Parts: sequence; C-alpha cells; structure tokens
Amino acid sequence: MSSNHDTDIVIAGGGLAGATLALALARCVPELRVTVVESFPLSAQALPDCYQPSYDARSTALAWGSRLIFDQLGLWSRLAEHATPIRHIHVSDRGHFGATRLHASDHQQEALGYVADNRWMGLCLVRELLETGVSWRAPAAVTGMEPRQDGVRVFVGEGRGDGEDGGSEALTAQCLVIADGGRSGLREKLGFRVNQQAYGQHALIANVSTSKHHDNTAYERFTDAGPMALLPHGPTGQGESTSALVWTLDSETLDDLLARNDAEKCRRLQARFGWRLGRFIHIGECSHYPLTLQTVDESVRPGVVLVGNAAHTLHPVAGQGFNLALRGLMALVEQLQRAASQGQPLGSLAVLNRYQAHHRQDWKQTVQFSDSLIEIFGQSMPVAAAARDIGLTGLDLLPGAKRWFGRKAMGLGGRRPGISPATSGQREPAGNKP
Ligand SMILES: Cc1cc2nc3c(=O)[nH]c(=O)nc-3n(C[C@H](O)[C@H](O)[C@H](O)COP(=O)(O)OP(=O)(O)OC[C@H]3O[C@@H](n4cnc5c(N)ncnc54)[C@H](O)[C@@H]3O)c2cc1C
Repeated sequence: MSSNHDTDIVIAGGGLAGATLALALARCVPELRVTVVESFPLSAQALPDCYQPSYDARSTALAWGSRLIFDQLGLWSRLAEHATPIRHIHVSDRGHFGATRLHASDHQQEALGYVADNRWMGLCLVRELLETGVSWRAPAAVTGMEPRQDGVRVFVGEGRGDGEDGGSEALTAQCLVIADGGRSGLREKLGFRVNQQAYGQHALIANVSTSKHHDNTAYERFTDAGPMALLPHGPTGQGESTSALVWTLDSETLDDLLARNDAEKCRRLQARFGWRLGRFIHIGECSHYPLTLQTVDESVRPGVVLVGNAAHTLHPVAGQGFNLALRGLMALVEQLQRAASQGQPLGSLAVLNRYQAHHRQDWKQTVQFSDSLIEIFGQSMPVAAAARDIGLTGLDLLPGAKRWFGRKAMGLGGRRPGISPATSGQREPAGNKP
C-alpha cells in the first residue's frame, strides 16, 4: 500500500491471535502487505495431510460469537470438523444448592459455543494463510523496534531470536502488532506497563474419560478449593465420553496430585467434581500453568499495538481469553480497513486510539466478568456462599438475568465490528512462504 515501507504491517507472533489477525487482514483488507514473524519453525512440507485428533489434544472453548467471526473469515466449516458443540452450560457451587443451567435452545441457536482442538485450529489457520498473500518469517523473532516519523522500523532476527542464530535485518512498516503471548518479551522491552494479579493458584489441564456421556454439556463448578471446568471434547460414542478438564489448585495440592498415579488422580477428581458425569475412568497427560490476571493500561502507541495474550491474560476457567482477543482483532481490522480506505497512515495514534476506544468496553466488561466469577466463587465464608446460592438460583429463575449471562457466555452482547471481507482483489501468494 505504501511504497515507502518494506511491508505495511508486521505481526510479531504467529500463535492463535497473530495468525487469525493475518487471515482477517488478508480477507478484509487484501491490498495491505502483511508479514508474520514467528519464532517456531513452520514449513509447508511439515503440515500433515490429515489430522487425527489425539486423546491428549489441548483445546479452547470458542463462544458462539467466535464461531460467527470464523464463519465470516471463511474458516468455520473447516474448524467445525474437530469442534464439539456446547449445547448446555451447567454452573454450580460444590456443597451448596445453587445452580444455573443455560441451553442453546433458549437462545434459538444450535450451540452456546464449541470446544476446538488448538492444534487443529493452528493447522487450519496456517493452511488457509498459505492461500493468501501474507508472508511468513519462521523461525525468526522480532527483537525490537524503533519509531520513525512515518511508521516503525522492526528488527527481525533469524532463528528463535536468542542471538545464537546469526543474522538480523530491519523491516520498515506502517505498524507493528505485538502478538507474542502472555510473557511478551516485546511488551517488556518497549516498557508497556503491566498490571499483574496472581490468583495464587495453578490450572491443571488434562482430558478425562467418564462413564456417562457429557451430552454436550460444559460444567463450571466452583469449589472451596477453587473453580474447575469440564468441557465436552469429542463426539459422544457408545460407552465413552471425553471432557477437557481445567482444574484450579494451590501449589501444594497440585504437587501432591501430580505425584499420584492416574487412578488416584481420578479418585480425587471424583471427590471434587461429583457424579454428574458418572465415574472418571481415565485421565490423560497433565499440564499446568500458574494463574494470573494480566492486563495493560494502554495497548497502543504510535505505530504499535498489543493484541491477544500480550494485551490480556485471563483465568482460563471462564474460557474468555481467546474469545475476547478475537473480538479485539476484528475491532482492529475494522479500523485498519477504514484507515486504508481513507488513505490514513495505519499506525497513526488517531487510528489506533479509535480501535482502543471501540474495544475498551468489551475488554473491561469481559475482564471484570471473568475475574468476578473467580472472586465471588473463591470465597469460602458462609455469607458469601449463601449469596452465591441465591445468585445462582436467582439467575436460574430470572429470565432477563439468565439471558444476559447466556449472551455473555456466548460472546455476544457487545458491539460487533462492521468489517466486510473483500470478495475480490486478493493478493497472489507471496514467494517467502513457510
Ligand atoms: C490453560 C489455558 C486454557 C485456556 N482456555 C481457553 C478457552 O477455553 N477459551 C478461550 O477463549 N481462551 C482460553 N485460553 C486463552 C488462550 O489460550 C489464549 O488467549 C490464546 O492462546 C492467545 O494466543 P496468543 O496468540 O495471544 O499467544 P500465544 O499462543 O502464546 O502465541 C504467541 C506466539 O508468539 C511467538 N513469539 C513469541 N515471541 C516472539 C517474538 N519475539 N517474535 C516472533 N514470535 C514470537 C510464539 O512462538 C507463539 O507462537 C486458555 C489459556 C490457558 C493458559
């Protein structure tokens, strides 16, 4: 778009957020030149021809609103091949009577959301990107940037960016999008202020099989030791059912649990979760993450914008992190599309501030929604427990409140960006493909 620059937009990080943004730009503003820099190696030859879901595959809960976005980007039918619909959500408080149930049919939709394999999502995104004009540098890392009068100069190191891999080059661009994840080295390097609130807990992630079918139900269960979620994962076949577990635990309990064999892990899980899914038969490979709420005060500066986990990391039990990121990406694409059509510099503060202003309310509300679920349900005092019971029962009985809660869980209710994928004029695939 601008011949004064090597490229129009550099995206640092080709994870779920960076790759989705690249695809959305390729679809909606095909005249822009987009370069994705990703530290992990990526090669077209390395992409498997067919995908076999594994029992241990990690997954993400996509809200209904995220399905609509992927539909708009022409990716949903492919993603749906390995996505399990969530038709019901059951929220309960262990040891108390309150509970609320949400049903897709109450919202006249086929699902409230979906559980999609992360690896499958990554594969679909990369395959689709190969058909666009987006260029990739991988393995390579953005190591820094310098503001310029008309944009930015971005430093790209070959290899994983640890200085051991030799050469580096400077790319000029109108704008740098930082999508390098929750531990964003670039965010730190550029001095963006980060607010961190440690929950003092860890999330244990694993897939579990149960004797009772999940019936496409996502369970969010709050216990005195922390919240847990069990999401339907995989088709419900005869006599088997798999759910994706997110279980919050303090460090001591986590260490103790990890030292146990699978049968004992299942027994402890049973004691925590109860029998709604029948007997826990098997638990797969366990991974774990320390939990923090991480947000930035400002996500834009002239020529630079933070997206995805680099901008916010939420508690995974509410399953909102990527869904929020996706809505933010679409809000950014909307403003970049508008700026491009009006010939405005893409990295100008006016353009990026407009993006921030449009996304801020959704961002604030979702962070609050997610955090307050954990705060409210993390209290073990009797008064708080009684308030929760009343709250959950009230939510179940009050159609208006329940509908609001349902729309929040579905990733709806906020402003929807007015982006329009272009139907023609897509770029020829560029030469430097993975
Ligand atoms: C346990 C857990 C469960 C979750 N469950 C859900 C859920 O159910 N629903 C939901 O909506 N969200 C969920 N999330 C959140 C979701 O996983 C994240 O929002 C999502 O992965 C964000 O991806 P990202 O692209 O921002 O970051 P990442 O996935 O971390 O990607 C960052 C990428 O940048 C690359 N990179 C790093 N540094 C550089 C550099 N200098 N130059 C170039 N490349 C670089 C990395 O190699 C990586 O590929 C969950 C998170 C966790 C931890």
